[in-house]
Amino acid sequence: MIKGIAKSALDLILNLGKSSHPQEFVGLLSAEEGIISDVLFLSGTVSSHESALLRLDQLPFGMGVVGSAHSHPSGSNLPSRADLGLFSKVGNYNLIVCYPYGAKDWACYSSKGELLELKVLDVEPKGTSDEQEELIRDLTEAGLLEPDDLTDQDE
Ligand SMILES: [Zn+2]
Repeated sequence: MIKGIAKSALDLILNLGKSSHPQEFVGLLSAEEGIISDVLFLSGTVSSHESALLRLDQLPFGMGVVGSAHSHPSGSNLPSRADLGLFSKVGNYNLIVCYPYGAKDWACYSSKGELLELKVLDVEPKGTSDEQEELIRDLTEAGLLEPDDLTDQDE
């Protein structure tokens, strides 16, 4: 049962959308104690919506992922047909953030593509748990995540 999304995680997703613009970013959502608290940024910047989503389609099973997050540089946060196909596979919480990536430029959809009301919770960000480390390792092995994506690359 998901209670909501940590404000820090939502801010991160909006910022990832902003920094990827005009390209898309695609990530995975993971939850801890019922709160979506982390986003994993998948490697490789892609220019086409469909190929961005395909990366998520390749996910191995059983990694505790609760859904997905991706950006729409177009300015609409309505799911495309490809998005709906993805949502049905990846989890029940699927965020779409859109240009200009402000505090209200996002929406959350269920695995059936229904609009969900997701509470934004002001909780302290948590350190990387064993579970998340395991997830990162699985994703890296699956070739979907590069360790470099997890660190700041200032200069
Ligand atoms: Zn989309």
